Amino acid sequence: MRNVSGWAAHQRGGPLEPWNFTRRDLLADDVAVRVAYCGVCFTDISAIRHGSQFPLVPGHELTGEITAVGSAVTRFAVGDKVAVGNIIDSCGVCPPCLAGRQNWCTEFPTLTYGNTDRRDGGPTRGGYSSEYVLPQGFAYHLPPELDPAGAAPLMCAGITTYAPMKRWGVGPGKTVGIVGMGGLGHLALKLAHALGAETVQFTRTRDKAAEARSLGADDVVLSTDEQRMAAQRGRFDFILDTVGAPHSLEPYLSALAMDGTLCLVGIPDEDIRVSPLSLIQGAKTLAGAGSGGTVETQEMLDFCAEHGIVADVEIMRPDQVNEALDRLDRNDVRYRFVLDMAAQRP
Ligand code: ZN
Ligand code: ZN
Repeated sequence: MRNVSGWAAHQRGGPLEPWNFTRRDLLADDVAVRVAYCGVCFTDISAIRHGSQFPLVPGHELTGEITAVGSAVTRFAVGDKVAVGNIIDSCGVCPPCLAGRQNWCTEFPTLTYGNTDRRDGGPTRGGYSSEYVLPQGFAYHLPPELDPAGAAPLMCAGITTYAPMKRWGVGPGKTVGIVGMGGLGHLALKLAHALGAETVQFTRTRDKAAEARSLGADDVVLSTDEQRMAAQRGRFDFILDTVGAPHSLEPYLSALAMDGTLCLVGIPDEDIRVSPLSLIQGAKTLAGAGSGGTVETQEMLDFCAEHGIVADVEIMRPDQVNEALDRLDRNDVRYRFVLDMAAQRP
């Protein structure tokens, strides 16, 4: 077994504390990754609060370096820079898996933490740790142009916003709205701009307008300004809603043009209510998306390298993780915390 140091919640809702544990010896198809940086995602907070598997080691946005490879590994060598996201395995034989869209594996993909590993049957433990072990098929080459700290959040927030924008044809000639300007929203904004769309940021906070423009917004709409919102009617081909708190979707459905799509990637803990006529008039689509498969994840990293896109991050030491979680919970971050996992090593 491989000895690993990490940070774990020992009970539901509990603080994260240093914890030593073991990972499996490498199977033939495995790689070991020394974790350099791990992003702090809102999912980590949900898992600590509502998870069922404790001790829980969160973290599913990691970058690092390959330190060992199994006997059958062909895609990586020791020293390669890599990234790992929120799924680390899947059945490999169902139609979504065969299409490279393992995030929708019909047998459910193996999650990076808080899940059961389908190869060794043990609990999966995340990237708030010194080392991760996974099958080579779910590690990604990190392009050398990308800063490893800023690139870490690309592995969840980045792919979750990139995949739906690609799927619904965001590009030149399209007008795209981004709702919310947090970890997901700020990356969506950069990606939509780089994809060549006219990009509009919706925000409730007037003081984020200038920053939205500096991140790539061609226009900023204050969502609390009813008159301005009403004036958006029929403007958008695609709107990506990244907000994780309950809110009305009607103003955004109204802002869609004919055949437009409103895609949700945030997960408010309330059911959605919309008037059927809001969809029927204009033949609109209400859609959802989350994470990405192995093909589009590597494509997203390469796209970000080409366009110089990484997350805006605030780097914290691992012993500041509870402060990071607390501040993220209060939305007090611009725009993603990243733990410098090397800062805890002797
Ligand atoms: Zn995440
Ligand atoms: Zn599958």
